[in-house]
Amino acid sequence: MKCFFCTNDLDNSDEHIILNSLNGKLHSKEIICSECNNFFGAKLDSVAKDFFNPILLLLDFKNASGIIAENMQGEKDFLLRKDKSIIQTKPKIIKRKIDGKTLVSISGDPKNTVKLFDKYVERLEKNGGKKLASRLEEKTDNQPIRIKAEFKTSPRIDLLLNKIATEYCAYNKILTKGAEELALKVRNLDDNFQNLFYCNPKENFREFKSGEISHYIKLWPNEERIYIYIELFNVIGSIIIIDNDYKGEDFCFQYYQDAITGEKFNDYPDLDNEHFQSIIELDLKTADFADMTNKLFKRNQDRNFSKLFDDVLAEIRQRLEKEVLDGKITDAEFNEKMIDESTSFIAQYQIENPYMWEDLDDANNDEINYIHSNLRENQFEEFCKKNSKLIGKKVRIDNDKIYITEKFEKVPVTEENGIQIIKVSVVLYNGIERKRIPYREFFEGIGNK
Ligand SMILES: [Zn+2]
Repeated sequence: MKCFFCTNDLDNSDEHIILNSLNGKLHSKEIICSECNNFFGAKLDSVAKDFFNPILLLLDFKNASGIIAENMQGEKDFLLRKDKSIIQTKPKIIKRKIDGKTLVSISGDPKNTVKLFDKYVERLEKNGGKKLASRLEEKTDNQPIRIKAEFKTSPRIDLLLNKIATEYCAYNKILTKGAEELALKVRNLDDNFQNLFYCNPKENFREFKSGEISHYIKLWPNEERIYIYIELFNVIGSIIIIDNDYKGEDFCFQYYQDAITGEKFNDYPDLDNEHFQSIIELDLKTADFADMTNKLFKRNQDRNFSKLFDDVLAEIRQRLEKEVLDGKITDAEFNEKMIDESTSFIAQYQIENPYMWEDLDDANNDEINYIHSNLRENQFEEFCKKNSKLIGKKVRIDNDKIYITEKFEKVPVTEENGIQIIKVSVVLYNGIERKRIPYREFFEGIGNK
């Protein structure tokens, strides 16, 4: 058998149709020769890796790399590492003159900061100065950190999708003239494609399930054309025309897998055929996937949380049901206790995501921006009213300390087109000290009960 991309014989080269780096599990040794495989590996693998890296990082993929992050002042001195910890890559020096003496404060990651301090003292003494006192303090920095990631189409992404499309045709032996022409174009890295349409930003072509993070491909003919729908991480959704002149038999091939566990699914998604025609007519050749990415992270939290929540809820329910049976509490008390105890559990479960995404158009967003806990300032009052039932709740955090949810608080974040955007926190009070938890971490936890 020949390679689908060149004239070489196949030589047992194993090709992942959805890239291995994206945990694609569909692979075959009957598509491509090792020369072409290496060629694409060198030319195209980095395209996928660069585009998806922030997603891979946040989904805990082992092959993800750290990302440069910045604080709200725009200082790009931070690195969000693979283990989700944030380090300050560049120590920060602040000098202040007090009564003729200089107070020097150096902050950063422990190793470099101490090194820089020693160097500073050395230089000071060389110049006739003297260190009067010093203090080393370890503290965690809770300032919000954000990552500026771009989730936009590019000709290279078009090319990558066309390569996946071509290989899926070869895999299913759809070897039409159109598929062969496409293979040639892909092999020449010709990235000027007019056959590709981005779709599904509002989930009107296909709706995702709660907690879904998947890869999906569907290949089928329709009115003398062959189409393929490719969806990666439910962020990129695209329809590609493989062949414009197909008169052969009807067929339908689908591939669907969990993007994290790799589990294969057989209950294929429903695509909205009515909407399908309009995708081609809309002629959307470029797209911004920021919104889809935000939704993906939200589904990821749903997914992680629901696993834990189900277990704990079952435990609480079992115990309380026994108390009802034993006559210790009434049915009415059962309901009350159930809500109370699940609420306090959820507040304990704080999702550690101290970074933000600079992506959504907050000025025109009528809902709270979930990932950022952001809102327009003029919506704050209504927000407080709407969520007033959350105030006065007992929550347990920090190893069993009981707090009461006291109020909501707003902090200005940025201004967009003259509209003030604020960050919403929930203030917790235990009679002695107050804690502030970003709205999302708190609210997502209690599941809007
Ligand atoms: Zn080849």
